[in-house]
Amino acid sequence: MSRERVLIAGAGPVGLVAATLLAEAGIPVTLVEAERELPTDLRASTFHPPTLDMLDRLGLAAPLVEQGLICPQWQFRDRATGPVATFDLSLLKDETAHPFRLQCEQWRLARMLRDRLEQHPDVTLLYGARATAAEQDADGVRLTLTLAGGGEEVLEGRYLIGADGAHSAVRKAAGAVMEGQTIPELFLTLSTTFAYHEVMPDLTSIAYISDPQEWFVLLRTASLWRLLLPTPQDEPEDVMLSEARIQARMQEVWPRAGGYEIRHRTAYRVHERVADRYVSGRILLAGDAAHLNNPLGGMGMNGGVHDAFNLAEKLIAVWRGADPALFGRYERQRRKVALEVVQAQTLRNRATLNQRDPEVRRAALDDLRATAEDPARHKAYLMRSSMIASLRELDSVA
Ligand SMILES: Cc1cc2nc3c(=O)[nH]c(=O)nc-3n(C[C@H](O)[C@H](O)[C@H](O)COP(=O)(O)OP(=O)(O)OC[C@H]3O[C@@H](n4cnc5c(N)ncnc54)[C@H](O)[C@@H]3O)c2cc1C
Repeated sequence: MSRERVLIAGAGPVGLVAATLLAEAGIPVTLVEAERELPTDLRASTFHPPTLDMLDRLGLAAPLVEQGLICPQWQFRDRATGPVATFDLSLLKDETAHPFRLQCEQWRLARMLRDRLEQHPDVTLLYGARATAAEQDADGVRLTLTLAGGGEEVLEGRYLIGADGAHSAVRKAAGAVMEGQTIPELFLTLSTTFAYHEVMPDLTSIAYISDPQEWFVLLRTASLWRLLLPTPQDEPEDVMLSEARIQARMQEVWPRAGGYEIRHRTAYRVHERVADRYVSGRILLAGDAAHLNNPLGGMGMNGGVHDAFNLAEKLIAVWRGADPALFGRYERQRRKVALEVVQAQTLRNRATLNQRDPEVRRAALDDLRATAEDPARHKAYLMRSSMIASLRELDSVA
């Protein structure tokens, strides 16, 4: 295999988008994935408007929209009293070609990108190939893989993108450190065939439900409803995920004779962390390898895809002769968004949902209500929460 290529670790949405952009710019790519096939478990399911606008450049927005559920509206609710603020993304019709959130499982995007990459003559996709170490010199990088079938392999390339998720081996090899905090509760994600919209007529397809005792989130996809429930970290996993415990918690959300049909159940630990650097010479980090946040607001995967577009643009320019100092701008731009937009907004969302102090809680919900009622504030809020503002502000970052 020629050294004249970019190596990418991790075939999640971020690695796959980066690989597609590079390959379609004529840069040979080898993409390595630890698993034997692409994961299809329950992960992100929200695509924000600017992410769809970006994917449109690859011709992928329309097929994704076809597989998903268009959600122009979403809301904050009070568990006891109902809707507090309903936001309407159609107000952004002059700002984006996709003035809605699309509810669609992330694996559907991953699968489309994989199918496209498999047809590309300059792309090698290796499954069951776990990156374990990386090193670099003035000319290139070497990536060591442990193969699921046994043995090791070393690949060489000009640059290495670490898109290998939260536990990134590439990040560790680059010496980058995640800084931030771990959220004390676990996040339990469930999906059910039950049609919440039929019993709660004022419910939008995305709803954040605030409650001082137990907040939760309801998200509709094309075929199922998903619930996100906070769970004490000391609850043993076999209890937390047991049928009896899940049925009991679902009854608290909406009592129903006969119980619920559960399709998926996953519990995961959530962090609010950002890598101290995204660029270490020829090794570049993107997506969850570079930043982690809670899912309230659906910004993790979207921010990762925005990283991939930003990084690919700069890598293509450097490949064609631009100064590699350009990578520094990638880090300054995208790290700033991770810290000042994604982390700040997701922590604010969590604080609004789980606030126990009645005065603070009332003030936060009143502020959301007032925001939704004032057209200018409503639009400004949507520009931030849909991540359009953070992309427009990038030009001001040197
Ligand atoms: C269980 C779970 C549930 C989630 N739920 C939500 C949610 O409800 N809402 C939300 O907004 N976000 C959610 N997220 C976060 C969201 O899925 C991520 O932000 C998004 O997947 C980031 O994409 P990525 O490509 O950076 O990383 P990933 O999607 O994590 O992809 C990384 C890929 O790298 C592979 N890999 C890992 N290590 C190596 C290695 N050493 N060598 C080679 N390959 C490797 C992995 O198998 C994986 O395919 C969830 C994440 C998890 C883990």
